Parts: sequence; C-alpha cells; structure tokens
Amino acid sequence: MKRPEKTGVATVGGYAGHESFYNGVPGRQTPGPAPLPSDTEGCRTEPLGHGRNPDYSTSGPRRQQTQPVKVVVSKGGRQTMTQWHPLRFEPVYKQYLWGGTRLRTALGRDLDPRQTYAESWEICDHDSDQSRVLAGPFAGATLHELFLEHRREVLGEQAVDAPPGVPARFPLLLKYLDAARDLSLQVHPDDALAAKLTPPDFGKSEAWIVLEAEPGSLIYAGLSAGVDRAALAEAIRRGTCRECVHAFEAKPGDCVFIPAGTVHALGAGLLVAEIQTSSDTTFRLYDWNRLGPDGKPRPLHVEQGLAATDFARGPVEPLRRLIGEEDEEAALVRSAKFALVRRAFSSPRRLGGDGRFHVLSLLDGSLVIEGDPTGRPLARGQTVLLPAALGSVQLTPEPRAVLLEACLPI
Ligand SMILES: [Zn+2]
Repeated sequence: MKRPEKTGVATVGGYAGHESFYNGVPGRQTPGPAPLPSDTEGCRTEPLGHGRNPDYSTSGPRRQQTQPVKVVVSKGGRQTMTQWHPLRFEPVYKQYLWGGTRLRTALGRDLDPRQTYAESWEICDHDSDQSRVLAGPFAGATLHELFLEHRREVLGEQAVDAPPGVPARFPLLLKYLDAARDLSLQVHPDDALAAKLTPPDFGKSEAWIVLEAEPGSLIYAGLSAGVDRAALAEAIRRGTCRECVHAFEAKPGDCVFIPAGTVHALGAGLLVAEIQTSSDTTFRLYDWNRLGPDGKPRPLHVEQGLAATDFARGPVEPLRRLIGEEDEEAALVRSAKFALVRRAFSSPRRLGGDGRFHVLSLLDGSLVIEGDPTGRPLARGQTVLLPAALGSVQLTPEPRAVLLEACLPI
C-alpha cells in the first residue's frame, strides 16, 4: 500500500543514451523482516548559526583532503584511470494529478508545454527511479551503479554497510515539486514501523524549502493542539480532517522540517525543493473528499497512517528567514537523517574536501562549478553531487548564488 501518489507516469527526460561504463543493474534486494536501525531522530528546526564564513570547506575538525582521489573505470575490458569530478544527473520527471507547469516556466526545464509535471527528481537511487550521470567518464551510469562500485569514494567516511535485508542505496533523495493542487494529507513511518509495514523500504523524513508561493498558499504540518488518535480517526471517517491539522500561509524561503510521524500536506500554489531520506513509504490519511481521475476516491491508508502518526507532534511552524543582499550561511535543519544549510554568496568559495559527500542544489542565481564536465553553470533548480573523493572545488557565482546544501549529519 505504499506510493499512493503514483497516479501518473515516471519519465526519464531526454537522456541521449551514453554508453555506460558499468554492466551492473541496480541490485535486486531481498525483502525481509530484518531489523532496521531504530529511528532516533532528535530532530529540531531551529537555526543553528547565521553568519559569514569565508571558506566553507573548513567546517570543523574534519580530515582535510586536498588532492582528489583517482578512480579506475572499466569499459569493454579496458580500464582507464581518471579523476573524480562533480556529478550532474539527468532529472527524472513525475506526472501526478496535482502537478503544474512551473518546472518548465519557473525552473526553465525543457518539458512539453501541453503537459503538467509534478516532480523533478534530481538525485535519486530508489529502485527503478535512478539518476543517470550526464557527462564525464561516468556518463550514463546510474547513481546506484556508482554507489555499488564506488561507495567509499562517493560517501567517504560516512559509508556504512546496510544491515542484511536492507536495501543498499544512496541515502538521500532531492526533488522539486510543483503543487498546482493540494496534495493529499499524509504521514510517513519511521524506520522501525517501515520495517514492519513496508519492508524493505526505510522510514521517511523530509524537509521543504519554498521557492515560490502564490498568495494564500498553505502548508499543512503537524496536528492541531489536542488532536489525539480517536479525534483524528473520527475526522477521517467524517471527512472533516481540515480542522485537525495545523496550517500556515507559506512564503518563499520558508523551511519546514517534516520528520517521520508528522501529518502533512503541501497546498496548492507552491513550488518547493524537498530533501528526504531515500524512501517512498507514504500513507494517505485524507484526500480532501476529492475524487481521482477515474471518478472514485483515491485509496486511503488509515490504519497504517494512524499507526505511523506521532500524536505528540503538534503544530509545526516554518523556519522563516528572509535572504538579504549580504552573504550568509544559515543552518536550516540538523537531524539524525540529514543536515541542510543554505548559503547565499556573491564571491567565489570552496566547498568539499572534508571526507564526505555534498548534494548542492541552486535555489537562485547561477553558479560555475570547477571541474563540472557539462561545462554549463548550475542554474536555478539544478543539482550537483560532489563525491567525497573529489576534494574541494571552487564555486563561482555569476554574480550571486543561493545554494542549498544537503549532507548526512556529522
Ligand atoms: Zn511527505
């Protein structure tokens, strides 16, 4: 009963078919009831720091790695030594019934103007949904193939072996969502419950960064004060869930953290970036009394959703901070699953070289990334992965960049 939002088709857009350097197929994982690590999210959304940092590559007592690590790639029996480089990927587009046109109009994607698109998956290693490398010696390889063959170099010192029965995959997923209509009210399980209800997938925690919001657009996040299991179950039965959920009017720049167990929905009129654990375990609690394209209500997952809901999680407010003209670095989320930092800057910086990977997505501006084999600056809404073995790279804004950085927590 997972993936209730998959009412449309998944599209891998425009990939011209580079020959892959890999023969492997994404590994088939053996489903099983093996225990997952328990979810110990002591998550919080308060700002962790807000100041200037002239050199982002030195963010603590990390092992500094100035020289990029070389890598051997094999093709047709030949082996070639090359160097790591920033990894750009082909987006994977999703057409769900709530999607719109802003991936094309606001983010400049080359998409069919007669169609609507809900999501662009920028970095994904989730079953058949796979990012493919756009350019360079790894062109055509999927993120999963890179992960399987070069896990230590991609993840660095944060590479850990998955427990038996648990899918080994790149741990984070980054996407952009264009909500032209309200999404259903939903909740994601934590790892422990996902292991019981939806093995072998993980639990799911996510965070949204709002890029654009039409006036009056709402984000639903957390239960209203005093709503317990019985009250929510009754509201679902009666079709009156709206009163049970906290909502606020979203503004561009808002960051909302949605750990597993938080009831939530994106409202109509929002364009957001979403970073999440690489999982697709979603339980739909309520669909606003709407009918699906076939004229019938879409299925709900009430029992699983109630089991996954954290009834201690009351109203969730956004972390709201306007981005000024000054350079700034703001920690947005630090959780057991991922850390998010937003950096606004107008002079060259170096990033990486700290022994771990960095997922970078551009929220605004234009950014030249040293060593990027596509030769094209990162544009608004585009994403790059700096593998841990790459070393530090120079980032040159043209003339200014607002960058979202996602990492595993230290
Ligand atoms: Zn969600």
